[in-house]
Amino acid sequence: KKWVYTFGNGAAEGRAGDVAILGGKGANLAEMASLGLPVPPGLTIITDACALYHKNGRDLPEELKLQVMAGLHGMETVTGKTFGGSQSPLLLSVRSGARASMPGMMDTVLNLGLNDRTVEALGHDAGDARFAWDSYRRFIQMYADVVMGLDHELFEEILEDEKGRLGHEYDTDMSAVEWQHVVSLYKKLIEDELGEAFPQDCHVQLWGAIGAVFASWTNHRAVTYRHLHNIPGDWGTAVNVQAMVFGNLGSSSATGVAFTRNPSTGEAELYGEFLVNAQGEDVVAGIRTPQSITEAARLASGSDKPSMEKLMPEAFSEFLAICKRLENHYRDMQDLEFTIERGKLWMLQTRSGKRTTRAAMKIAVDMVEAGTISQEEAVCRIEPSSLDQLLHPTIDPGISRPVIGSGLPASPGAATGEIVFTSEEAVAAEAEGRRVILVRIETSPEDIHGMHAAEGILTTRGGMTSHAAVVARGMGIPCVTGAGSMRVDMRNKVLIGVGCMLKRGDIITIDGSSGRVLKGEVPMTQPELSGDFGKLMVWADNLRRMTVRTNADTPADARAARAFGAEGIGLCRTEHMFFEGDRIHVMREMILAESERGRRAALDELLPMQRSDFTELFQIMHGLPVTIRLLDPPLHEFLPKTDGEIVEVAAAMGMPQTVFRQRLDALHEFNPMLGHRGCRLAISYPEIAEMQARAIFEAAVEAARITGAPVVPEIMVPLVGLRSELDYVTEVIDRVAAAVAQETGMEIEYLTGTMIELPRAALRAHVIAEAAEFFSFGTNDLTQTTFGISRDDAARFINTYQRKGIIERDPFISLDFDGVGELIRIAAERGRQTRPELKLGICGEHGGDPASIHFCEDADLDYVSCSPFRVPIARLAAAQATL
Ligand code: ADP
Ligand code: MG
Ligand code: MG
Repeated sequence: KKWVYTFGNGAAEGRAGDVAILGGKGANLAEMASLGLPVPPGLTIITDACALYHKNGRDLPEELKLQVMAGLHGMETVTGKTFGGSQSPLLLSVRSGARASMPGMMDTVLNLGLNDRTVEALGHDAGDARFAWDSYRRFIQMYADVVMGLDHELFEEILEDEKGRLGHEYDTDMSAVEWQHVVSLYKKLIEDELGEAFPQDCHVQLWGAIGAVFASWTNHRAVTYRHLHNIPGDWGTAVNVQAMVFGNLGSSSATGVAFTRNPSTGEAELYGEFLVNAQGEDVVAGIRTPQSITEAARLASGSDKPSMEKLMPEAFSEFLAICKRLENHYRDMQDLEFTIERGKLWMLQTRSGKRTTRAAMKIAVDMVEAGTISQEEAVCRIEPSSLDQLLHPTIDPGISRPVIGSGLPASPGAATGEIVFTSEEAVAAEAEGRRVILVRIETSPEDIHGMHAAEGILTTRGGMTSHAAVVARGMGIPCVTGAGSMRVDMRNKVLIGVGCMLKRGDIITIDGSSGRVLKGEVPMTQPELSGDFGKLMVWADNLRRMTVRTNADTPADARAARAFGAEGIGLCRTEHMFFEGDRIHVMREMILAESERGRRAALDELLPMQRSDFTELFQIMHGLPVTIRLLDPPLHEFLPKTDGEIVEVAAAMGMPQTVFRQRLDALHEFNPMLGHRGCRLAISYPEIAEMQARAIFEAAVEAARITGAPVVPEIMVPLVGLRSELDYVTEVIDRVAAAVAQETGMEIEYLTGTMIELPRAALRAHVIAEAAEFFSFGTNDLTQTTFGISRDDAARFINTYQRKGIIERDPFISLDFDGVGELIRIAAERGRQTRPELKLGICGEHGGDPASIHFCEDADLDYVSCSPFRVPIARLAAAQATL
């Protein structure tokens, strides 16, 4: 079996595509070598060897060892040096390199092959004894740390002591003799601590280092990292053994790192740092302050240390050319590591560079405009969920303010405002034009209007799927939940945070992207929706097949969604409309009415309010489809809960308290989620559905007259399990439609359909489709009813399930493809059998989740609908799903 792939001297056995066997680093070293770039020769031991090493009790097969020796011999030939030789000794670097870049793996061992004998030869060859002893002490320290397991701090202490004793500031001030002395101290330390000598045999050193790389695959840090990033444990790491080149060979040598473009802004400018007379990680370690690579960057930073461009012009211009070449070759921004040995440039690593979302956008657009990549590729290069970073104001990264608490990043974006503790205060403050943060222990449906009025929401209790979190995400309002280190004292109206106590009116800033809570006002960066973002979105829109609609209940949501490119409303939940202002009182009167007559009287009052809501929504959507769901939640959700509220409301309604409480008790349900809700309400109280249908049709007539754009409302009946349920409610709707048409003289085209949110509905889709013109998958409820898990209670155990490996992902966040997804496929297929033109969409929280959107594309749905701020994410994900 071929265990070893060699590279160098203008050729390589591997290619960039061989990442799975060579690891990222090895594959790219091979690619650079075959491009003819200056890469020190080396070899890569393939990733498969890693598993074998562990299976074999930490040993490697003879065949592999022979191949390594042969490869090493090749390196000796190319370099004209000998490994372990007393003349021209070849030194090696041993570098790990997995398929996915993985911090937590073994550190690189440099200068391997030095011992008491070869160090003299190295110094002699280079004509620089100081350099040789500097390299030796580096090697001993690294080897002892990563292979022998001796803490590198112990070595640093010795070095610091010596430098102090000698009065040196920098490592570079040390002389050959002084380094030689440090080496003897290091060797003694190893013997004292480990009871064994530092290995002098170069082959022992080499196999020790190779073994350490493979062993590090299963160390604690690496295992944890893999777990967090879903990297399979059986991938294994490759090992790269490479000839050393030296950046620590005096003032014409250097080492550095660079990005071919600015990774935070995406600007097409070389961006990086280097350090003269240094090796390896000195640049990142902050031993000395690194210098700029380009003169432009030096000027911008105001540094008086010369740039590489000025100091080493030849190496610089070669490097610049290589950067261009690699970028064009890989067709992406590269992150590079290089070393200059006595003026000669060597490339040590290249890979696609990590970047911010803003930079990713700019680079993708620039590359399309330069003809380097296609629009499809550009669209694929942006991670949809990363758009969240761009769509909200963010805290200026250069700013530091005291953090007074932290919780979960429940809804992204940052917001500043005065603290208020109740929804009423929030609404009142908004009316006066003040900006507030609503601070609560937790929120409930009664807080909706207060949440709307606030700039941000902070709760001290609750998780990522708590009421506050779900509603805030839906509204696109920044939210931090479960800030357990903070305490809300509702009685005294104070918020207690780390080292402070804040009262109503004090200013705080919350960062819903990180979960931090800061004191005072903090400067922010506003989202930028035109420019690169706009261009990419147009490209994405040209590619996608599915339409993207929004879930919007209010004019503000609808407007925001239009600005983000929504192509209609996929879900308008009407219940929110009953909480606003005085409406809740009328709503309560309706619910508590003893007779149909009493109910109708209250409904007559609600009709004009609801009609005006719909008219406004229709106007904003200007002819785009609008799906309106009839009243869904159980009626008791609209009623008061606490004793204080009950007394107050009973009094306001002129109802004796005992009677009031009796009515409340009568409406109580043991399991409201599966109780008297959805179409069951419309069947028990058809007058409610009648009123809503009338409001919709009258509004459609009005909006059509105002805008001239025809409105085609889609009326959605919730929680249908039986075709007969849908028939009953559809009959009510049709009757009202006919009546309104006659009264207004204007015929409104409309669709009636249902949500598929019960397994029975999915299974009987072919029958239900006889009565439905569209299906919208209500995946929140469908997930609840398929799993039999209530979303509001899931937080208590889903985390445990994930930790114990019972379930991989939270099904309320990412669609359960196997179970819930199967029901969607069944319903789509059976529904279309009956009615080929059946419109299919999804309107749960999953409608904004990229992985779920992929599923919807595969299931051939017509549209996805998500909260306004997720619309751009959905547009991008829907485009990627088609490729
Ligand atoms: P990491 O994956 O942590 O970046 P690397 O294997 O890239 O580890 O090595 C880190 C640094 O070690 C490199 O950036 C380079 O400075 C130095 N290095 C690695 N191999 C060599 C080599 N063959 N010659 C000189 N320096 C090297
Ligand atoms: Mg590296
Ligand atoms: Mg539902």
